[in-house]
Amino acid sequence: TQIAKGHFIENIIKEDLAENKNNGRVVTRFPPEPNGFLHIGHAKSICLNFNMAQKFNGKCNLRFDDSNPAKEKQIYIDSIMSTVKWLGFDYDTPLHASDYFDALHDFAVELIKTGKAYVCSLAADEMKEYRGTLTEPGKESPYRNRSVEENLDLFRRMRAGEFDEGEHTLRAKIDMRSPNINMRDPVIYRVKKALHPRTGDKWCIYPMYDFTHCISDALEGVTHSLCSLEFEDHRPLYDWILDNITIPCHPQQIEFARMNINYTVLSKRKLQRLVSEGLVSGWDDPRLPTLEGMRRRGYTPAAIRNFCDVIGVSKKESRIDMGLLESCLREDLNENAPRVMGVIRPLKITLENYPEGATETLAAMNHPQKPEAGKREVSFSKHLYVEQDDFMEDPPKKFFRLGPGREVRLRAAYLITCKEIIKNEAGEVVELICTYDPETRGGNAPDGRKVKGTIHWVNAQDCIDAQIRLYDRLFNDENPEKDGQDFVENLNPDSLEILEHAKLERRLEKAEPEVVYQFERLGYFCLDAKESTPEKPVFNRTVTLRDTWAK
Ligand code: ATP
Ligand code: MG
Ligand code: MG
Repeated sequence: TQIAKGHFIENIIKEDLAENKNNGRVVTRFPPEPNGFLHIGHAKSICLNFNMAQKFNGKCNLRFDDSNPAKEKQIYIDSIMSTVKWLGFDYDTPLHASDYFDALHDFAVELIKTGKAYVCSLAADEMKEYRGTLTEPGKESPYRNRSVEENLDLFRRMRAGEFDEGEHTLRAKIDMRSPNINMRDPVIYRVKKALHPRTGDKWCIYPMYDFTHCISDALEGVTHSLCSLEFEDHRPLYDWILDNITIPCHPQQIEFARMNINYTVLSKRKLQRLVSEGLVSGWDDPRLPTLEGMRRRGYTPAAIRNFCDVIGVSKKESRIDMGLLESCLREDLNENAPRVMGVIRPLKITLENYPEGATETLAAMNHPQKPEAGKREVSFSKHLYVEQDDFMEDPPKKFFRLGPGREVRLRAAYLITCKEIIKNEAGEVVELICTYDPETRGGNAPDGRKVKGTIHWVNAQDCIDAQIRLYDRLFNDENPEKDGQDFVENLNPDSLEILEHAKLERRLEKAEPEVVYQFERLGYFCLDAKESTPEKPVFNRTVTLRDTWAK
């Protein structure tokens, strides 16, 4: 029945609702750390959290996990806010873990007072040694049995700025022999003399992630705290902290598998490296799996949401085929992108029997599968461009395009026949002299002769000149880190191809970024939001018409 259909998290929520757990409320959150831009992996978490809230009439908070001032920046916060909106999700005022710094501090004091936290003065390397390993139990810190008074005093002085970074930490007193290393007296506060983007110089001690996260969830009344699998080992700590402080709410942490996609990397740290080493043009490089990059390339929010739906939510790690992401995009664009004609590698055509100076207007379908999308006017004259690839000097029989003496249909226009080839000094074909058949306006011959091939074209006297950027896979290998290789070594040197002087239908003068067109027979393209100018429009190929990933 209905319950069997949802993914496992949806099913847990349904069962909770059936038992009236949390008084029937569902509250989730998306908790990015503002230390980089969001990538497609984050979209999985965003869709999951917002969709669960929406589906069960609950709410989803956008909360910045901003407890590490060293790496966090306002530009990341701004980008994350706009990206979540762009994906199509609404949130109330964004929340910040830093809003809870006072409360977090008070909970730390509570743990000290109940003898469940202590100030430890081991240096970082000593602490590491005391922690033990997976096979060796840890050793108790010599500072573990400080009195509550001493701990309170030291913690107060940590906060007052009396100590340098690394001199003391505050640790939860749990169990140094626990098989789970996260439970071996984890640090919950450290001295960090850094300005925080939101709290300025108010604090020189900052709470650690594990301490901050569970308490932030609880303070917000989160019911289901959904996170990726690497936090499974942190769940006992999540629960321990909430069980040992006075707080009325105890969210349930549920883990799911991260999204991985082949031929790319999904980690802010790795993406950061590509950006800082200048291997891509920036965080919004259209080759990157960042949501800003994908947006610039022409990905639609609907396609990304659909992709997240299709891949589902489970506990099993897997690597998803880039072809699947692109097919979700194609599905949306095929339905919604208006068709236009553009010639990206132009070859001149002169129609010798068409009057010089004359022009006429023809009607082309905006969407061949959707007559209701109407027609548009395209202008025609003696001088045209066609695609270089649509001509061969010595074509095989099955090449249904242009060749010496061959006839072809120009989309929505006339049948033309190639009469003469003009070459430059280097022997390259630079122009074709053709004739057109005036009886074939619209594309059909009254005498019923069959012409198989139809090619696209533009009017050389009524078109715009543009730069085209074609993108290929960013990495040469499906797994850029296979056999422990440095992913940077596997970058595809040909991931970007730039074509100057493409010729496009004049209507593309009015193209707007993020509006994707199908250039007939070539793929989907959109105006580049960043580097396009009215003098020199730049178009990105969003995706090809067919899957090119399967090798
Ligand atoms: P990265 O490793 O790229 O830095 P992160 O998990 O450290 O990712 P956060 O800003 O902490 O980045 O992520 C916010 C939320 O997004 C977290 O709940 C995290 O689990 C989730 N998330 C991040 N990457 C993925 C992914 N590839 N698939 C699914 N969820 C993800
Ligand atoms: Mg994180
Ligand atoms: Mg990370």
